[in-house]
Amino acid sequence: SKPSYKWQRVLLKVSGEALAGDHTQNIDPKITMAIAREVASVTRLGIEVAIVVGGGNIFRGASAAGNSGLDRSSADYIGMLATVMNAIFLQATMESIGIPTRVQTAFRMSEVAEPYIRRRAVRHLEKGRVVIFAAGTGNPFFTTDTAAALRCAEINAEVVLKATNVDGVYDDNPRRNPNARLLDTLTYQEVTSKDLSVMDMTAITLCQENNIPVVVFNLNQPGNIAKAIQGERVGTLIGG
Ligand code: UDP
Repeated sequence: SKPSYKWQRVLLKVSGEALAGDHTQNIDPKITMAIAREVASVTRLGIEVAIVVGGGNIFRGASAAGNSGLDRSSADYIGMLATVMNAIFLQATMESIGIPTRVQTAFRMSEVAEPYIRRRAVRHLEKGRVVIFAAGTGNPFFTTDTAAALRCAEINAEVVLKATNVDGVYDDNPRRNPNARLLDTLTYQEVTSKDLSVMDMTAITLCQENNIPVVVFNLNQPGNIAKAIQGERVGTLIGG
């Protein structure tokens, strides 16, 4: 009989920072390969995986805006383009180990990737392909965390798995407070009221309104990505 996993379709959010690892370059190929291997191991089990990639390893609109008169919208479009670079790198890595992967961009770049078409994305997933969503939401003033929540809702994925460089959400800043505790679970309410820097407000609110649980976990811990996708307990679970 078919083993039952907690999730059938997941949205994995990989931040740009996580892709950089401790590498001095923008993208650490060891990290993309680790992601590819672990995603491969779960797609073989029949779990459908969509990925939203960030771009903060290359460019962040909000922090670059203002320099030399760069306006926020232009800066954010550069940031969105940065996510496309990460997406293509990750796609190439996945396909190098035999995982069929499609990149869909939120605005048209037809020579390099498909445009985002919801029904087509779902079809790819049903066929066992990994879909990487790039260029965020396609709108300035948003983040790729919000894109993750949005795409998760659109494709009816069951959970946002946020892969980061930290073990999960703490009750205090672990760098400043050595007694800070890693939290197993949290409500959306606690995240927003305590201003825990898990996700921006737009992203967490979108998850809350659509009852999408969020798992925050450390991708540098070998095996964690596969565990998170299979619904094993890792990091912090945020929900109702
Ligand atoms: N961005 C945007 N709209 C979106 C998603 C991203 O304008 O819907 C821009 C924004 O400038 C952001 C950059 O792309 O700083 C990179 O994305 P993000 O900071 O979310 O990446 P991450 O923190 O996950 O690496």
